[in-house]
This record gives sequence, structure tokens and C-alpha cells, in this order.
Amino acid sequence: MRVWFFSGRQVLWWAFACLALGIFLGTYGEVYLPASAVNAYPGISGRTIVLDAGHGGIDPGAVSAGGLLEKEITLAIANELETLLSRAAVYVVMVRHGDYDLADSSESDLLKRKRQDLSRRVRIAEEAQADLYISIHANYFPGPRWFGAQTFYYEGSPEGKHLAEILQTELVRHLGPNSRLARPGDFRVLRDTTMPAAMVEVGFLSNPREAQLLSEPGYQKKVASAIFAGLLRYYSQ
Ligand SMILES: [Zn+2]
Repeated sequence: MRVWFFSGRQVLWWAFACLALGIFLGTYGEVYLPASAVNAYPGISGRTIVLDAGHGGIDPGAVSAGGLLEKEITLAIANELETLLSRAAVYVVMVRHGDYDLADSSESDLLKRKRQDLSRRVRIAEEAQADLYISIHANYFPGPRWFGAQTFYYEGSPEGKHLAEILQTELVRHLGPNSRLARPGDFRVLRDTTMPAAMVEVGFLSNPREAQLLSEPGYQKKVASAIFAGLLRYYSQ
């Protein structure tokens, strides 16, 4: 075994080097990272975007034939999207980080819970004065043949429509052909939010092939990348 000793002079030198590095990182570290991201993603950097992973807690959302839960898919994709947006220096507000809803835990009436949950999702976005609201869901239809991602907007919102159309184009481009178009949908989180909002139905859990894809982390990343590409385009136009 070999033991290393440092002379007094070496110790002083190391102390100085550490101090200098600390001052450099402390002064420039925080500024440097977002600054490079701002250059890489002009338009979107510095924005506040709310990511609403649909359902959660007592409310699983749709369930595939194989037992895949919509609430888990939506959260996984929201998490991937959060990573991408954070790298672009976007301030991301997650409506939920885990498996829960936003209703009072004491509320046992399911309908009241749902209402409370949705109105609190909207309130989070309003209080954050968010620039955009992106809600993530998965679709379900009786019968296995329907497939493909589809985006919805509130009929009375031209900006929401514009956002949804761009997202739809990028979803089709990244995930493969589907003939679906962005459509108006009367969903509370789209209707009640005052910022441009879109709901992305990432695919059909009632389609066995698409349900399988949606369960794969690689595909979840792909969906998040498609939405991210749409958001970049929305802010670059
Ligand atoms: Zn849903």
C-alpha cells in the first residue's frame, strides 16, 4: 500500500484551485446553462408550459385488454416531455408527478372528485400564468381496429386550434401515418384555461398493437419527442 502525502505548498495550491472553480461555477454555472439553451431553442426558452398527465390515483382512465392503465402511460410521456422541455430552458409545471389526483382525499363521491380534480388542474395553470397547457391522454374505443394519435382543441380558441394542428402534424410525422386531424373537443381543461391549450390523445389503448407500443419506454420517448417538435415549431412560426 502506498500512502500519499502533500506538502504544505501543494495543499495551498489545491485549496486555491478548488476555490477558483467554486467561484467560477457559482458565478457562471447557473447563467451559462440556460443561456446556451436559449440560443439553441429561440422562441420557446423562458416560456411556462403546463403538462397535464391525464387521470391519476383512484381514476385509472382507460384500461387496455392487457391491463395497461392510461394514467401510467400519460405520466410516463409527460415525464419524458418534461425532460426535453427543461433542456430547452422551458419552465415546466407538472400537474402531477405521481399516481394521485388533485381532489380532496376526503371526497368519496367520484363525480365530485373528478370535477374538483379538473378544476384544480386548470387553477394550477392559471396561477402559474402559463403560456401553454398541454394535456396528455390515451384514447379508447369499443372495437380494436381504431388507432393513431389525435389532438383536440377548444372550438372557441383559434390559438388552441393552431397549436393542435401543429402538434397533430408532428405526431403523424414522428409516429407514422394516420389520417386523423386535429379536432375540436369540449373538454373542461381546454374550455376553462385562458392560455392556448391542446389535448393529445397519444393513441388507442383499445388497439392491441398500439397499446403494446404505448407500454414501451422507447415509444413513450418517441411520443414525447413528437410533441416537443410540435412545441418548437409552434414557437418558431
Ligand atoms: Zn383520458
